[in-house]
This record gives sequence, structure tokens and C-alpha cells, in this order.
Amino acid sequence: MLIDHLNRQLRERADQALTRTRRTAESPCAPQQRVAIGNQPSRDLLAFCSNDYLGLAHHPALVEALAEGARRFGAGSGASHLVSGHSLAHATLEAELATWMAPCIPDARALYFCTGYMANIAIAQALYAHDAIIFADKLNHASLVDGALMSKAKLHRYAHRNLAVLERQLMQSDAPLKFIVTDAVFSMDGDLADLPALLALAERFDAWLVVDDAHGFGVLGTQGRGSLAHFGLRSERLIYMGTLGKAAGVGGAFVAAHPTIIEWLVQTARPYIYTTAAPPAIAHALSASLQLIAGPEGEQRRAHLQALIHQLRGELSKLIAAHAHLGWSLADSATAIQPLIVGSNAAALALSAALDAQGLWVPAIRPPTVPVGTARLRITLSAAHSAQDVQRLVDGLAVAAKELHA
Ligand SMILES: *Cc1c(COP(=O)(O)O)cnc(C)c1O
Repeated sequence: MLIDHLNRQLRERADQALTRTRRTAESPCAPQQRVAIGNQPSRDLLAFCSNDYLGLAHHPALVEALAEGARRFGAGSGASHLVSGHSLAHATLEAELATWMAPCIPDARALYFCTGYMANIAIAQALYAHDAIIFADKLNHASLVDGALMSKAKLHRYAHRNLAVLERQLMQSDAPLKFIVTDAVFSMDGDLADLPALLALAERFDAWLVVDDAHGFGVLGTQGRGSLAHFGLRSERLIYMGTLGKAAGVGGAFVAAHPTIIEWLVQTARPYIYTTAAPPAIAHALSASLQLIAGPEGEQRRAHLQALIHQLRGELSKLIAAHAHLGWSLADSATAIQPLIVGSNAAALALSAALDAQGLWVPAIRPPTVPVGTARLRITLSAAHSAQDVQRLVDGLAVAAKELHA
């Protein structure tokens, strides 16, 4: 009986401390959030869990642009892009994104998707043919892994950031079509892929480099143009996926690449063709978001975020040293993703709960999202945080460290 079978498996997950619960936010995405769990009364928490790195998700200019977009273009698109759902708002955004990426990809064209997950599946389904080989970093995001597994191509995974292994794999491959696929900023560790070295390998072995910049777009590079700009890269071999629900504060994603590749996606990518276009108002709000990101306010927000990262890492290093017996460690990350690795699932949950008791919301991330034995608190910072917010988190962790030791 299916229900009995599923209930048994759910109980097993619970026994391994793997049950995931959702919290219901009753206020906009921001450091101070009113949150409810189940039927319990809602509480105000200081949150360190969103990917809203620039604090734009509740920015008045974007809220207003969304409302204006809805007044102008309506609430919904009504159909898929290839039928009748493609609006002027989508077309405008795509032109702006193409210009945005032009310094990094010659002649770039951009295609807007409802989500980054769908964009990655679309790249895989449309481009990874049966005679292709995909070379993928072991810590790539689930959507890149799923895309590779769903495709007809062969998949070789290399140890995280291990370019020696990748080089050997490339050397041994005689596939006519090769794709190196990587997160630019790894989502659970916060570290950067060595994109210049990856691009050099792609050039040497006549491969394409697919870059998922979910956590770099808007944050890294001049004007927040992303990881390619951060490294000053420019090549026709790049296929770039940027998400627009994180630093850009709204939702959706885009692929930027050589115009022929984009045209192929339009003609053949099922996650693009067989889905209703996102509401045009979202695209309209994203155009406003791009302006904010590239302008002086974006610049100032990125500088503030850098200062917070520096503050947090300094304080956490001291705390970890003072409580060495707990075996905590800080990931080697210079980005807004600052994981505190604690080890076991139970330890991560206990620490998250101890923070929760102090009104701090930091999620515990467990396998299979991260390797077994590396359960962690995934602390994410946002330009909407203040230095006082970061200090409150550090103080809360110090209290929790003493409690957990006692
Ligand atoms: C969030 C994320 C995605 C998925 O993007 P959505 O727009 O949320 O679907 C893809 N890749 C990485 C690395 C991500 O972090």
C-alpha cells in the first residue's frame, strides 16, 4: 500500500533528523521577519537565510515597478512564449540582459525563463546530445545535476574544484561535443569556481563552459555584472545562466549565449516551450532591478555587503577558536554565503534550534544537499543587514556554543 510505504519512509527520515519543515513568512523577505511554524503563534525573527543578497526583494522601487507592470501588462501572460504570452516587458528585459552580458559573451543574446531550475534543465535537454560528454563539478547545484541526468549525454563528475582530475578526463575523451558545467559560486559552500582556468581548459579541449551564476549575478564584478565580469572573462564558448530571484530580488532566470544557441533553445527547449510565460509585470520589475543593481545604489549595497562579510568572518574565526572542542569550522568563502560546518545532522539541528530560541533564524543544511558529515548552518548575509544584526548573530552563536557544551 503506497500510503503505508510512504509513511514508513517519512518516519525513517524523521529518525535520521532529515525531516524538512516549512515556515510561513507573514512579512516581506527582509532581515526582520514575522514567521509562523505550523499552528504556533507567529514570531519576529532576525533572518540569515535568504539569497536576497542586495536586499532588493522588498525595495520600494521594485514593488512599485511590479505594480506598474501589472497595471500596464496585466496580472498574467495568458500563454507560453511561442503562442501569445511573450510581452513587450519580456522582450525589453531580454534586450537589456543581452547588453548586460555583451562584455563577456560577444554578440550575446539572452532568453528569460520562469526559474533557474527550468533554465538549467532547458540547457541540458536542448544541448547535451547523445554523443556529448558533460564534465561536472561534484558540488554543482541539484538543477545542473538533474539536467545532466535527464539528458542523453554521458556524465563525468570531478571532485570539487579539482582541475587536475578534470584535465585528465578531458584528455581521455574523444567525444565530438564536450560541456564543462559548473556553479560559479557554490551554493552551499560559497566558494568560487576557478572560471579562468576552466575556460582555458575549455579552449584547449574544444569544450563549452556552462556557468551557473545564481549567487554571483548582481553581487560580483563591476556593476554587479556577475562572475564572468569579476574574472574579466570574454569568450564565445560561454553559456551563462543567471538567476533573477536572488540578488535581483524578483524571480526567474536567463540564459545568455551565442545567438544560435539561444535560437536553438527557443525552438527546442521543452522547459521553455511547454510552460506559461511568467507574468510580464515580473519582467518589468526586473528591468528596474537591473538599473538599481548597475547604479550607485547597487554599488553602495555591494560595498556594505562586503563589510558585513568581513565583520562576520573575523568574529566567527575568534568564536571557533574559543570553542575548538565543538569541531566547528568556517568554509573558505569570500561571498555572502558563509557556512558554519558543524558535522552531524543532529548537531546542526541543535545549533539552529538554539539560535531559534534567541530569535535568530539560520537554517541547518543536511545531506543530501551537502555531503554526509558536513551538516552546517548556512548563514547568508544581505546588504539589508546592519553591523548590529551581524553582531547579534555572533553573540547568539556564542551563547549556543556554551549551551551545547554544557
Ligand atoms: C537557486 C539556484 C538555482 C535555481 O534557480 P531558481 O530561480 O531558484 O529556480 C540554480 N542554480 C543554483 C546554483 C542556485 O543556487
